[in-house]
Amino acid sequence: MASGFLEDASFNQSPAFGDVDLFSADRPLAEAAQRAGLDLAALSACGRDYGAADTLDLGRLANENPPRLRTMDGKGNRLDLVEFHPAYHALMQKSIGHGIHASAHDGSDRPAPMSARAVRLYLATQAESGHMCPITMTHACVGALLSEPALLAKWLPKIQTRTYDPRPLPWWEKNGVTLGMGMTERQGGTDVRANITSATAHGDHAEISGHKWFMSAPMCDAFLVLAQAENGLTCYLMPRYRPDGSQNAIRFQRLKDKLGNKSNASSEVEFHGAWAERVGAEGAGVRTIIEMVNLTRLDCAIASAGQSRIALSQAIHHVRNRSVFQRRLADQPAMRAVVADMALELEAQVALVFRLIRAAEHAAHDPREAAYARLLTPAVKFLVCKSTPQLVYESLECLGGNGYTEDLPMARYFRESPLNAIWEGSGNVMALDVLRAAGRHPEAATDTLSRLVRTADQAFKAGPLAQALEQTLKSGAAERRARFLCESLAKIAAVAALVEAGSPFAALYAETRLGGSPFAQFGSADLGDSETALIDRALAA
Ligand SMILES: Cc1cc2nc3c(=O)[nH]c(=O)nc-3n(C[C@H](O)[C@H](O)[C@H](O)COP(=O)(O)OP(=O)(O)OC[C@H]3O[C@@H](n4cnc5c(N)ncnc54)[C@H](O)[C@@H]3O)c2cc1C
Repeated sequence: MASGFLEDASFNQSPAFGDVDLFSADRPLAEAAQRAGLDLAALSACGRDYGAADTLDLGRLANENPPRLRTMDGKGNRLDLVEFHPAYHALMQKSIGHGIHASAHDGSDRPAPMSARAVRLYLATQAESGHMCPITMTHACVGALLSEPALLAKWLPKIQTRTYDPRPLPWWEKNGVTLGMGMTERQGGTDVRANITSATAHGDHAEISGHKWFMSAPMCDAFLVLAQAENGLTCYLMPRYRPDGSQNAIRFQRLKDKLGNKSNASSEVEFHGAWAERVGAEGAGVRTIIEMVNLTRLDCAIASAGQSRIALSQAIHHVRNRSVFQRRLADQPAMRAVVADMALELEAQVALVFRLIRAAEHAAHDPREAAYARLLTPAVKFLVCKSTPQLVYESLECLGGNGYTEDLPMARYFRESPLNAIWEGSGNVMALDVLRAAGRHPEAATDTLSRLVRTADQAFKAGPLAQALEQTLKSGAAERRARFLCESLAKIAAVAALVEAGSPFAALYAETRLGGSPFAQFGSADLGDSETALIDRALAA
Protein backbone atom coordinates (compact mmCIF):
# COMPACT_ATOMS: atom_id res chain seq x y z
CA MET A 1 0.00 0.00 0.00
CA ALA A 2 1.29 3.51 -0.84
CA SER A 3 2.82 5.19 2.19
CA GLY A 4 1.84 8.66 1.11
CA PHE A 5 5.44 9.70 0.55
CA LEU A 6 6.22 11.28 -2.81
CA GLU A 7 8.97 8.73 -3.55
CA ASP A 8 6.39 5.93 -3.40
CA ALA A 9 4.14 7.43 -6.11
CA SER A 10 4.60 6.40 -9.74
CA PHE A 11 3.87 9.83 -11.28
CA ASN A 12 3.19 8.83 -14.86
CA GLN A 13 6.36 6.70 -15.09
CA SER A 14 6.31 3.62 -17.31
CA PRO A 15 6.54 0.30 -15.46
CA ALA A 16 9.80 -1.64 -15.71
CA PHE A 17 10.24 -3.55 -18.97
CA GLY A 18 10.50 -7.27 -18.30
CA ASP A 19 8.79 -10.65 -18.22
CA VAL A 20 8.26 -10.35 -21.96
CA ASP A 21 8.49 -13.12 -24.56
CA LEU A 22 11.13 -11.40 -26.67
CA PHE A 23 10.50 -13.84 -29.51
CA SER A 24 6.70 -13.74 -29.86
CA ALA A 25 6.48 -10.00 -29.21
CA ASP A 26 8.78 -9.39 -32.18
CA ARG A 27 6.61 -10.13 -35.23
CA PRO A 28 9.31 -9.60 -37.90
CA LEU A 29 11.51 -12.09 -36.03
CA ALA A 30 8.76 -14.65 -35.45
CA GLU A 31 7.84 -14.48 -39.15
CA ALA A 32 11.47 -14.92 -40.21
CA ALA A 33 11.64 -17.99 -37.96
CA GLN A 34 8.44 -19.34 -39.45
CA ARG A 35 9.74 -18.87 -43.01
CA ALA A 36 12.86 -20.84 -42.02
CA GLY A 37 10.69 -23.68 -40.67
CA LEU A 38 11.97 -23.35 -37.09
CA ASP A 39 10.42 -24.69 -33.91
CA LEU A 40 8.40 -21.66 -32.84
CA ALA A 41 7.35 -23.05 -29.46
CA ALA A 42 10.96 -23.72 -28.48
CA LEU A 43 12.02 -20.23 -29.58
CA SER A 44 9.15 -18.70 -27.66
CA ALA A 45 10.42 -20.48 -24.52
CA CYS A 46 13.86 -19.05 -25.25
CA GLY A 47 12.31 -15.59 -25.72
CA ARG A 48 10.61 -15.85 -22.33
CA ASP A 49 13.84 -16.98 -20.70
CA TYR A 50 15.91 -14.02 -21.98
CA GLY A 51 13.01 -11.59 -21.54
CA ALA A 52 12.41 -12.55 -17.89
CA ALA A 53 12.89 -9.63 -15.54
CA ASP A 54 15.44 -11.69 -13.59
CA THR A 55 17.51 -12.37 -16.69
CA LEU A 56 17.46 -8.72 -17.75
CA ASP A 57 18.68 -7.87 -14.26
CA LEU A 58 21.60 -10.27 -14.64
CA GLY A 59 22.66 -8.03 -17.53
CA ARG A 60 22.69 -5.03 -15.22
CA LEU A 61 24.63 -6.84 -12.52
CA ALA A 62 27.22 -8.30 -14.86
CA ASN A 63 27.99 -4.82 -16.20
CA GLU A 64 27.94 -2.97 -12.90
CA ASN A 65 30.46 -5.52 -11.56
CA PRO A 66 33.09 -5.87 -14.30
CA PRO A 67 35.70 -8.64 -14.30
CA ARG A 68 39.02 -8.24 -12.47
CA LEU A 69 42.41 -9.57 -13.46
CA ARG A 70 44.61 -11.26 -10.87
CA THR A 71 48.07 -11.64 -12.40
CA MET A 72 49.76 -13.00 -9.22
CA ASP A 73 48.98 -14.18 -5.74
CA GLY A 74 50.29 -12.39 -2.67
CA LYS A 75 53.54 -14.40 -2.77
CA GLY A 76 54.38 -13.50 -6.38
CA ASN A 77 53.24 -16.75 -8.01
CA ARG A 78 51.64 -16.32 -11.43
CA LEU A 79 47.87 -16.73 -11.43
CA ASP A 80 46.71 -15.11 -14.70
CA LEU A 81 43.11 -15.45 -13.64
CA VAL A 82 40.13 -13.23 -14.36
CA GLU A 83 37.35 -13.18 -11.80
CA PHE A 84 33.78 -12.55 -12.94
CA HIS A 85 30.64 -11.65 -11.05
CA PRO A 86 28.16 -14.52 -10.51
CA ALA A 87 25.70 -12.74 -12.84
CA TYR A 88 28.17 -13.18 -15.72
CA HIS A 89 28.52 -16.88 -14.94
CA ALA A 90 24.74 -17.22 -14.81
CA LEU A 91 24.42 -15.63 -18.26
CA MET A 92 27.17 -17.87 -19.67
CA GLN A 93 25.44 -20.94 -18.24
CA LYS A 94 22.16 -19.86 -19.79
CA SER A 95 23.56 -19.19 -23.27
CA ILE A 96 25.64 -22.37 -23.33
CA GLY A 97 22.56 -24.20 -22.09
CA HIS A 98 20.71 -22.80 -25.12
CA GLY A 99 23.54 -24.08 -27.31
CA ILE A 100 24.39 -20.71 -28.87
CA HIS A 101 28.10 -21.58 -28.66
CA ALA A 102 27.79 -24.84 -30.65
CA SER A 103 24.34 -25.84 -31.88
CA ALA A 104 25.06 -24.84 -35.49
CA HIS A 105 27.65 -27.65 -35.65
CA ASP A 106 26.09 -30.52 -33.73
CA GLY A 107 23.19 -31.59 -35.93
CA SER A 108 20.45 -29.98 -33.86
CA ASP A 109 17.71 -27.72 -35.27
CA ARG A 110 17.62 -29.36 -38.70
CA PRO A 111 16.89 -28.27 -41.42
CA ALA A 112 18.08 -24.74 -40.51
CA PRO A 113 20.57 -24.97 -37.62
CA MET A 114 22.26 -21.64 -38.34
CA SER A 115 18.93 -19.80 -38.48
CA ALA A 116 17.69 -21.34 -35.22
CA ARG A 117 20.93 -20.46 -33.49
CA ALA A 118 20.78 -16.94 -34.94
CA VAL A 119 17.37 -16.39 -33.38
CA ARG A 120 18.69 -17.49 -29.99
CA LEU A 121 21.75 -15.25 -30.35
CA TYR A 122 19.51 -12.31 -31.28
CA LEU A 123 17.42 -12.97 -28.14
CA ALA A 124 20.37 -13.55 -25.80
CA THR A 125 22.15 -10.36 -26.80
CA GLN A 126 19.04 -8.42 -25.77
CA ALA A 127 19.51 -9.59 -22.21
CA GLU A 128 23.26 -8.91 -22.19
CA SER A 129 25.78 -8.39 -24.98
CA GLY A 130 29.17 -8.73 -23.28
CA HIS A 131 28.98 -12.44 -22.53
CA MET A 132 28.19 -13.15 -26.19
CA CYS A 133 31.89 -12.62 -27.02
CA PRO A 134 33.16 -16.06 -25.88
CA ILE A 135 29.89 -17.66 -27.01
CA THR A 136 30.27 -16.39 -30.55
CA MET A 137 34.01 -17.10 -30.69
CA THR A 138 33.49 -20.69 -29.56
CA HIS A 139 30.90 -21.15 -32.30
CA ALA A 140 33.13 -19.52 -34.91
CA CYS A 141 36.40 -21.29 -33.96
CA VAL A 142 34.88 -24.51 -35.24
CA GLY A 143 34.93 -22.96 -38.73
CA ALA A 144 38.72 -22.61 -38.59
CA LEU A 145 39.29 -25.96 -36.86
CA LEU A 146 37.56 -27.72 -39.77
CA SER A 147 40.86 -27.36 -41.61
CA GLU A 148 42.56 -29.58 -38.97
CA PRO A 149 40.18 -32.56 -38.59
CA ALA A 150 42.24 -34.45 -35.99
CA LEU A 151 42.39 -31.42 -33.72
CA LEU A 152 38.70 -30.73 -34.22
CA ALA A 153 37.82 -34.33 -33.38
CA LYS A 154 39.76 -33.96 -30.11
CA TRP A 155 38.08 -30.73 -29.04
CA LEU A 156 34.58 -31.00 -30.51
CA PRO A 157 33.06 -33.28 -27.84
CA LYS A 158 34.03 -30.73 -25.17
CA ILE A 159 32.82 -27.79 -27.29
CA GLN A 160 29.45 -29.37 -27.98
CA THR A 161 28.34 -30.00 -24.41
CA ARG A 162 25.64 -27.77 -22.99
CA THR A 163 27.61 -27.41 -19.75
CA TYR A 164 29.34 -24.21 -18.75
CA ASP A 165 32.43 -25.09 -16.75
CA PRO A 166 34.40 -21.99 -15.69
CA ARG A 167 36.92 -23.90 -13.56
CA PRO A 168 40.58 -23.09 -14.38
CA LEU A 169 41.56 -26.65 -15.28
CA PRO A 170 43.16 -28.45 -18.24
CA TRP A 171 40.52 -28.71 -20.97
CA TRP A 172 40.37 -32.51 -20.95
CA GLU A 173 39.35 -32.48 -17.27
CA LYS A 174 36.42 -30.11 -17.89
CA ASN A 175 32.78 -30.75 -18.68
CA GLY A 176 32.65 -28.06 -21.35
CA VAL A 177 35.03 -25.53 -22.92
CA THR A 178 35.01 -22.09 -24.56
CA LEU A 179 37.43 -20.78 -27.20
CA GLY A 180 38.79 -17.30 -27.92
CA MET A 181 40.90 -15.64 -30.56
CA GLY A 182 44.04 -13.49 -30.69
CA MET A 183 44.87 -11.74 -33.95
CA THR A 184 45.25 -8.06 -33.15
CA GLU A 185 48.69 -6.75 -32.17
CA ARG A 186 49.87 -3.25 -31.27
CA GLN A 187 51.18 -2.48 -34.72
CA GLY A 188 48.18 -3.84 -36.61
CA GLY A 189 44.67 -5.18 -36.21
CA THR A 190 43.23 -4.94 -39.69
CA ASP A 191 46.66 -5.55 -41.16
CA VAL A 192 47.35 -8.91 -39.48
CA ARG A 193 50.16 -9.62 -41.93
CA ALA A 194 52.11 -7.09 -39.85
CA ASN A 195 51.95 -9.52 -36.86
CA ILE A 196 55.34 -9.97 -35.21
CA THR A 197 54.45 -12.74 -32.75
CA SER A 198 56.59 -15.69 -33.76
CA ALA A 199 56.20 -19.48 -33.74
CA THR A 200 58.98 -22.02 -33.55
CA ALA A 201 58.18 -25.60 -34.54
CA HIS A 202 59.04 -28.36 -32.03
CA GLY A 203 57.93 -31.68 -33.53
CA ASP A 204 54.19 -32.06 -32.93
CA HIS A 205 53.73 -28.55 -31.54
CA ALA A 206 55.05 -25.00 -31.71
CA GLU A 207 56.19 -22.48 -29.13
CA ILE A 208 54.81 -19.00 -29.51
CA SER A 209 56.41 -15.80 -28.29
CA GLY A 210 55.08 -12.28 -28.61
CA HIS A 211 51.98 -10.34 -27.65
CA LYS A 212 48.37 -9.64 -28.52
CA TRP A 213 47.00 -6.15 -27.97
CA PHE A 214 43.39 -7.29 -27.79
CA MET A 215 42.48 -10.80 -26.71
CA SER A 216 38.99 -10.94 -25.28
CA ALA A 217 37.44 -13.51 -22.97
CA PRO A 218 40.84 -14.46 -21.54
CA MET A 219 39.38 -17.24 -19.38
CA CYS A 220 38.63 -19.32 -22.47
CA ASP A 221 40.19 -22.79 -22.52
CA ALA A 222 42.08 -22.20 -25.76
CA PHE A 223 42.69 -19.45 -28.31
CA LEU A 224 43.16 -19.40 -32.05
CA VAL A 225 46.20 -17.16 -32.54
CA LEU A 226 48.16 -15.97 -35.53
CA ALA A 227 51.96 -16.08 -35.45
CA GLN A 228 54.80 -15.83 -37.95
CA ALA A 229 56.29 -19.28 -38.69
CA GLU A 230 59.17 -20.05 -41.03
CA ASN A 231 56.82 -20.05 -44.03
CA GLY A 232 54.71 -17.08 -43.03
CA LEU A 233 51.69 -16.19 -40.95
CA THR A 234 50.14 -19.33 -39.48
CA CYS A 235 47.13 -20.16 -37.31
CA TYR A 236 47.59 -22.06 -34.01
CA LEU A 237 45.39 -23.39 -31.25
CA MET A 238 46.88 -22.38 -27.89
CA PRO A 239 45.35 -24.12 -24.84
CA ARG A 240 45.53 -22.59 -21.36
CA TYR A 241 47.25 -25.74 -20.08
CA ARG A 242 50.06 -27.76 -21.67
CA PRO A 243 49.56 -31.52 -22.24
CA ASP A 244 51.49 -32.25 -18.99
CA GLY A 245 48.82 -30.31 -17.06
CA SER A 246 51.01 -27.28 -16.27
CA GLN A 247 49.71 -23.77 -16.94
CA ASN A 248 50.68 -22.55 -20.42
CA ALA A 249 52.97 -19.49 -20.73
CA ILE A 250 50.11 -17.04 -21.35
CA ARG A 251 50.73 -13.91 -19.26
CA PHE A 252 47.95 -11.36 -19.05
CA GLN A 253 49.25 -7.79 -18.71
CA ARG A 254 46.03 -5.92 -18.00
CA LEU A 255 42.37 -5.67 -18.94
CA LYS A 256 41.26 -2.90 -21.28
CA ASP A 257 39.29 -0.01 -19.82
CA LYS A 258 36.56 0.16 -22.46
CA LEU A 259 33.71 2.51 -23.38
CA GLY A 260 31.19 -0.28 -22.84
CA ASN A 261 31.15 -4.07 -23.08
CA LYS A 262 31.95 -3.95 -19.36
CA SER A 263 30.97 -7.51 -18.47
CA ASN A 264 33.41 -8.90 -21.03
CA ALA A 265 37.12 -8.97 -20.22
CA SER A 266 39.43 -7.87 -23.05
CA SER A 267 43.06 -8.49 -22.25
CA GLU A 268 46.50 -7.41 -23.34
CA VAL A 269 48.62 -10.53 -23.22
CA GLU A 270 52.14 -11.84 -23.71
CA PHE A 271 53.15 -15.33 -24.81
CA HIS A 272 56.43 -16.59 -23.41
CA GLY A 273 57.11 -19.66 -25.56
CA ALA A 274 53.48 -20.78 -25.17
CA TRP A 275 52.63 -24.31 -26.27
CA ALA A 276 50.34 -24.48 -29.32
CA GLU A 277 49.25 -26.76 -32.16
CA ARG A 278 49.16 -25.69 -35.79
CA VAL A 279 45.76 -25.26 -37.48
CA GLY A 280 45.84 -25.45 -41.28
CA ALA A 281 48.96 -25.24 -43.42
CA GLU A 282 51.98 -23.20 -42.40
CA GLY A 283 51.78 -19.81 -44.08
CA ALA A 284 47.99 -20.14 -44.57
CA GLY A 285 47.08 -18.32 -41.37
CA VAL A 286 44.79 -15.72 -42.92
CA ARG A 287 43.02 -18.27 -45.13
CA THR A 288 42.48 -20.51 -42.09
CA ILE A 289 41.27 -17.92 -39.61
CA ILE A 290 39.02 -16.20 -42.18
CA GLU A 291 36.71 -19.22 -41.83
CA MET A 292 36.23 -18.12 -38.24
CA VAL A 293 36.00 -14.43 -39.07
CA ASN A 294 33.23 -14.98 -41.63
CA LEU A 295 31.13 -16.56 -38.88
CA THR A 296 31.87 -13.86 -36.33
CA ARG A 297 31.00 -11.16 -38.88
CA LEU A 298 27.60 -12.77 -39.32
CA ASP A 299 27.20 -12.80 -35.55
CA CYS A 300 28.08 -9.10 -35.36
CA ALA A 301 25.17 -8.32 -37.69
CA ILE A 302 22.74 -10.59 -35.82
CA ALA A 303 23.77 -9.22 -32.43
CA SER A 304 23.66 -5.59 -33.54
CA ALA A 305 20.12 -6.06 -34.83
CA GLY A 306 19.31 -7.59 -31.43
CA GLN A 307 20.81 -4.59 -29.64
CA SER A 308 18.68 -2.23 -31.71
CA ARG A 309 15.62 -4.38 -31.06
CA ILE A 310 15.87 -4.30 -27.25
CA ALA A 311 16.44 -0.54 -27.30
CA LEU A 312 13.39 -0.04 -29.54
CA SER A 313 11.28 -2.37 -27.38
CA GLN A 314 12.17 -0.32 -24.31
CA ALA A 315 11.25 2.84 -26.21
CA ILE A 316 7.88 1.52 -27.43
CA HIS A 317 7.07 0.19 -23.97
CA HIS A 318 7.80 3.60 -22.51
CA VAL A 319 5.85 5.69 -25.01
CA ARG A 320 2.83 3.44 -24.53
CA ASN A 321 2.91 4.14 -20.81
CA ARG A 322 3.89 7.79 -20.55
CA SER A 323 1.55 10.71 -21.13
CA VAL A 324 2.41 14.26 -22.09
CA PHE A 325 -0.24 17.01 -22.29
CA GLN A 326 -2.97 14.49 -21.34
CA ARG A 327 -2.11 12.22 -24.24
CA ARG A 328 0.01 9.09 -24.37
CA LEU A 329 3.32 9.59 -26.13
CA ALA A 330 2.41 6.63 -28.30
CA ASP A 331 -0.54 8.66 -29.62
CA GLN A 332 1.45 11.82 -30.30
CA PRO A 333 1.95 12.05 -34.09
CA ALA A 334 5.55 13.28 -33.92
CA MET A 335 6.55 10.43 -31.58
CA ARG A 336 4.71 7.83 -33.67
CA ALA A 337 6.70 8.96 -36.71
CA VAL A 338 10.00 8.39 -34.88
CA VAL A 339 9.14 5.00 -33.41
CA ALA A 340 7.56 3.67 -36.61
CA ASP A 341 10.60 4.74 -38.64
CA MET A 342 12.89 2.77 -36.32
CA ALA A 343 10.52 -0.18 -36.54
CA LEU A 344 10.73 0.01 -40.34
CA GLU A 345 14.51 -0.06 -40.14
CA LEU A 346 14.35 -3.22 -38.04
CA GLU A 347 11.79 -4.85 -40.35
CA ALA A 348 14.42 -4.50 -43.08
CA GLN A 349 17.39 -5.50 -40.93
CA VAL A 350 15.74 -8.65 -39.65
CA ALA A 351 14.67 -9.70 -43.16
CA LEU A 352 18.16 -8.96 -44.49
CA VAL A 353 20.09 -10.68 -41.72
CA PHE A 354 17.99 -13.84 -41.91
CA ARG A 355 18.27 -13.85 -45.71
CA LEU A 356 22.05 -13.73 -45.30
CA ILE A 357 21.99 -16.57 -42.79
CA ARG A 358 19.97 -18.64 -45.25
CA ALA A 359 22.70 -18.01 -47.82
CA ALA A 360 25.40 -19.07 -45.36
CA GLU A 361 23.35 -22.13 -44.49
CA HIS A 362 23.20 -23.28 -48.14
CA ALA A 363 26.58 -21.97 -49.33
CA ALA A 364 28.34 -25.35 -49.17
CA HIS A 365 26.13 -26.91 -51.87
CA ASP A 366 24.68 -23.92 -53.75
CA PRO A 367 27.15 -21.68 -55.62
CA ARG A 368 24.63 -18.84 -55.95
CA GLU A 369 24.04 -18.79 -52.21
CA ALA A 370 27.82 -18.94 -51.69
CA ALA A 371 28.23 -15.90 -53.97
CA TYR A 372 25.49 -14.07 -52.06
CA ALA A 373 27.15 -14.83 -48.71
CA ARG A 374 30.60 -13.76 -49.98
CA LEU A 375 29.43 -10.41 -51.34
CA LEU A 376 26.79 -9.58 -48.74
CA THR A 377 28.40 -10.65 -45.44
CA PRO A 378 30.62 -7.54 -45.21
CA ALA A 379 27.90 -5.31 -46.67
CA VAL A 380 25.26 -6.47 -44.17
CA LYS A 381 27.68 -6.20 -41.26
CA PHE A 382 28.44 -2.65 -42.40
CA LEU A 383 24.81 -1.54 -42.74
CA VAL A 384 23.40 -3.20 -39.62
CA CYS A 385 26.25 -2.57 -37.18
CA LYS A 386 26.72 1.03 -38.26
CA SER A 387 23.05 1.86 -37.78
CA THR A 388 22.94 0.49 -34.22
CA PRO A 389 24.30 3.55 -32.37
CA GLN A 390 21.79 5.77 -34.19
CA LEU A 391 18.89 3.45 -33.43
CA VAL A 392 19.88 3.02 -29.80
CA TYR A 393 20.45 6.73 -29.35
CA GLU A 394 17.04 7.62 -30.78
CA SER A 395 15.38 4.93 -28.62
CA LEU A 396 17.19 6.34 -25.58
CA GLU A 397 15.79 9.79 -26.35
CA CYS A 398 12.25 8.38 -26.42
CA LEU A 399 12.66 7.85 -22.65
CA GLY A 400 13.58 11.50 -22.17
CA GLY A 401 15.87 12.28 -19.25
CA ASN A 402 15.42 8.82 -17.73
CA GLY A 403 17.02 7.33 -20.83
CA TYR A 404 20.24 9.18 -20.07
CA THR A 405 20.59 7.87 -16.51
CA GLU A 406 22.46 4.80 -15.36
CA ASP A 407 19.39 3.53 -13.50
CA LEU A 408 17.93 2.29 -16.78
CA PRO A 409 19.72 0.07 -19.31
CA MET A 410 19.65 2.55 -22.23
CA ALA A 411 23.01 4.10 -21.32
CA ARG A 412 24.58 0.63 -21.29
CA TYR A 413 23.02 -0.23 -24.64
CA PHE A 414 24.36 3.02 -26.06
CA ARG A 415 27.91 2.35 -24.87
CA GLU A 416 27.79 -1.13 -26.34
CA SER A 417 26.32 -0.05 -29.66
CA PRO A 418 29.45 1.00 -31.64
CA LEU A 419 31.43 -2.15 -30.84
CA ASN A 420 30.24 -4.66 -33.41
CA ALA A 421 31.05 -2.21 -36.20
CA ILE A 422 34.71 -2.17 -35.04
CA TRP A 423 35.11 -5.85 -34.23
CA GLU A 424 36.06 -8.32 -36.92
CA GLY A 425 36.71 -5.61 -39.48
CA SER A 426 35.74 -1.95 -39.08
CA GLY A 427 33.50 0.01 -41.45
CA ASN A 428 36.03 0.86 -44.16
CA VAL A 429 37.45 -2.64 -44.01
CA MET A 430 33.98 -4.09 -44.66
CA ALA A 431 33.42 -1.70 -47.55
CA LEU A 432 36.78 -2.65 -49.06
CA ASP A 433 35.95 -6.33 -48.54
CA VAL A 434 32.88 -5.92 -50.75
CA LEU A 435 35.19 -4.55 -53.47
CA ARG A 436 37.59 -7.44 -52.93
CA ALA A 437 34.80 -10.04 -53.19
CA ALA A 438 33.52 -8.37 -56.38
CA GLY A 439 37.04 -8.17 -57.81
CA ARG A 440 37.89 -11.81 -57.13
CA HIS A 441 34.62 -13.25 -58.46
CA PRO A 442 33.33 -10.61 -60.89
CA GLU A 443 30.85 -12.84 -62.71
CA ALA A 444 29.33 -14.19 -59.52
CA ALA A 445 29.09 -10.65 -58.12
CA THR A 446 27.34 -9.36 -61.26
CA ASP A 447 24.96 -12.30 -61.16
CA THR A 448 24.19 -11.68 -57.46
CA LEU A 449 23.55 -7.99 -58.07
CA SER A 450 21.28 -8.57 -61.06
CA ARG A 451 19.27 -11.16 -59.13
CA LEU A 452 18.91 -8.72 -56.23
CA VAL A 453 17.78 -5.98 -58.61
CA ARG A 454 15.25 -8.27 -60.30
CA THR A 455 13.71 -9.08 -56.91
CA ALA A 456 13.93 -5.53 -55.53
CA ASP A 457 12.30 -4.23 -58.74
CA GLN A 458 8.98 -5.59 -57.50
CA ALA A 459 9.02 -2.79 -54.93
CA PHE A 460 11.35 -0.17 -56.36
CA LYS A 461 13.11 0.61 -59.64
CA ALA A 462 16.59 -0.34 -58.48
CA GLY A 463 18.09 -0.53 -61.99
CA PRO A 464 19.54 3.01 -62.19
CA LEU A 465 21.25 2.63 -58.80
CA ALA A 466 22.62 -0.78 -59.77
CA GLN A 467 24.04 0.74 -62.96
CA ALA A 468 25.70 3.49 -60.94
CA LEU A 469 27.19 0.83 -58.68
CA GLU A 470 28.60 -1.13 -61.60
CA GLN A 471 30.07 2.00 -63.19
CA THR A 472 31.65 3.09 -59.92
CA LEU A 473 33.04 -0.38 -59.37
CA LYS A 474 34.77 -0.29 -62.75
CA SER A 475 35.97 3.29 -62.36
CA GLY A 476 39.21 4.43 -60.76
CA ALA A 477 37.14 5.82 -57.85
CA ALA A 478 35.92 2.48 -56.49
CA GLU A 479 38.06 2.58 -53.34
CA ARG A 480 37.19 6.20 -52.58
CA ARG A 481 33.51 5.36 -53.11
CA ALA A 482 33.69 2.06 -51.22
CA ARG A 483 31.14 3.07 -48.58
CA PHE A 484 28.67 4.24 -51.23
CA LEU A 485 29.02 0.88 -52.99
CA CYS A 486 28.76 -1.15 -49.80
CA GLU A 487 25.82 0.70 -48.28
CA SER A 488 23.83 0.86 -51.53
CA LEU A 489 24.38 -2.83 -52.17
CA ALA A 490 23.19 -3.68 -48.66
CA LYS A 491 20.08 -1.51 -49.04
CA ILE A 492 19.16 -3.06 -52.39
CA ALA A 493 19.62 -6.46 -50.73
CA ALA A 494 17.38 -5.32 -47.86
CA VAL A 495 14.61 -4.36 -50.30
CA ALA A 496 15.02 -7.73 -52.04
CA ALA A 497 14.92 -9.54 -48.69
CA LEU A 498 11.68 -7.75 -47.76
CA VAL A 499 10.15 -8.64 -51.14
CA GLU A 500 11.18 -12.29 -50.75
CA ALA A 501 9.69 -12.30 -47.25
CA GLY A 502 6.39 -11.05 -48.67
CA SER A 503 6.61 -7.93 -46.48
CA PRO A 504 4.11 -5.14 -47.12
CA PHE A 505 6.85 -2.65 -46.21
CA ALA A 506 9.34 -3.32 -49.04
CA ALA A 507 8.29 -0.32 -51.15
CA LEU A 508 8.12 1.95 -48.10
CA TYR A 509 11.63 1.00 -47.00
CA ALA A 510 12.95 1.44 -50.54
CA GLU A 511 11.27 4.84 -51.02
CA THR A 512 12.49 6.20 -47.69
CA ARG A 513 16.03 4.77 -47.84
CA LEU A 514 16.82 4.82 -51.55
CA GLY A 515 14.23 7.21 -52.98
CA GLY A 516 14.39 10.93 -53.72
CA SER A 517 15.02 12.53 -50.34
CA PRO A 518 18.10 11.29 -48.53
CA PHE A 519 17.56 9.49 -45.21
CA ALA A 520 18.18 11.90 -42.32
CA GLN A 521 17.02 11.45 -38.71
CA PHE A 522 14.49 8.79 -37.69
CA GLY A 523 11.02 10.31 -37.87
CA SER A 524 11.58 12.49 -40.92
CA ALA A 525 10.23 9.90 -43.37
CA ASP A 526 6.52 9.98 -44.23
CA LEU A 527 5.25 6.50 -43.40
CA GLY A 528 1.58 7.41 -43.74
CA ASP A 529 -0.90 4.71 -42.78
CA SER A 530 1.81 2.15 -42.11
CA GLU A 531 2.81 3.61 -38.76
CA THR A 532 0.35 1.68 -36.64
CA ALA A 533 1.18 -1.69 -38.16
CA LEU A 534 4.92 -1.08 -37.89
CA ILE A 535 4.72 -0.14 -34.20
CA ASP A 536 2.33 -2.97 -33.33
CA ARG A 537 4.56 -5.52 -35.04
CA ALA A 538 7.71 -4.22 -33.37
CA LEU A 539 6.40 -4.95 -29.87
CA ALA A 540 3.20 -6.96 -30.00
CA ALA A 541 1.20 -6.43 -26.85
C1 LIG B 1 36.26 -4.51 -27.05
C2 LIG B 1 37.18 -5.08 -28.09
C3 LIG B 1 37.50 -6.41 -28.02
C4 LIG B 1 38.36 -6.98 -28.98
N1 LIG B 1 38.67 -8.31 -28.88
C5 LIG B 1 39.54 -8.85 -29.76
C6 LIG B 1 39.92 -10.24 -29.67
O1 LIG B 1 39.41 -10.99 -28.84
N2 LIG B 1 40.83 -10.71 -30.53
C7 LIG B 1 41.39 -9.92 -31.50
O2 LIG B 1 42.23 -10.42 -32.27
N3 LIG B 1 41.07 -8.61 -31.61
C8 LIG B 1 40.15 -8.07 -30.78
N4 LIG B 1 39.79 -6.74 -30.89
C9 LIG B 1 40.47 -5.92 -31.88
C10 LIG B 1 39.63 -5.52 -33.07
O3 LIG B 1 39.30 -6.65 -33.85
C11 LIG B 1 40.44 -4.47 -33.83
O4 LIG B 1 40.52 -3.33 -33.00
C12 LIG B 1 39.82 -4.13 -35.16
O5 LIG B 1 39.92 -5.21 -36.05
C13 LIG B 1 40.51 -2.89 -35.80
O6 LIG B 1 41.89 -3.03 -35.80
P1 LIG B 1 42.82 -1.88 -35.19
O7 LIG B 1 42.32 -1.54 -33.83
O8 LIG B 1 44.24 -2.29 -35.28
O9 LIG B 1 42.58 -0.62 -36.10
P2 LIG B 1 43.27 -0.31 -37.49
O10 LIG B 1 43.44 -1.55 -38.27
O11 LIG B 1 44.45 0.54 -37.26
O12 LIG B 1 42.13 0.58 -38.17
C14 LIG B 1 41.89 1.93 -37.80
C15 LIG B 1 40.86 2.52 -38.75
O13 LIG B 1 41.37 2.49 -40.08
C16 LIG B 1 40.42 1.92 -40.96
N5 LIG B 1 41.15 1.24 -42.05
C17 LIG B 1 41.89 0.11 -41.96
N6 LIG B 1 42.37 -0.23 -43.17
C18 LIG B 1 41.95 0.72 -44.03
C19 LIG B 1 42.14 0.95 -45.43
N7 LIG B 1 42.84 0.11 -46.18
N8 LIG B 1 41.55 2.03 -45.99
C20 LIG B 1 40.82 2.88 -45.24
N9 LIG B 1 40.61 2.73 -43.94
C21 LIG B 1 41.17 1.66 -43.33
C22 LIG B 1 39.58 1.00 -40.11
O14 LIG B 1 38.28 0.82 -40.67
C23 LIG B 1 39.53 1.75 -38.79
O15 LIG B 1 38.48 2.66 -38.81
C24 LIG B 1 38.92 -6.17 -29.98
C25 LIG B 1 38.58 -4.81 -30.05
C26 LIG B 1 37.72 -4.28 -29.12
C27 LIG B 1 37.38 -2.81 -29.21
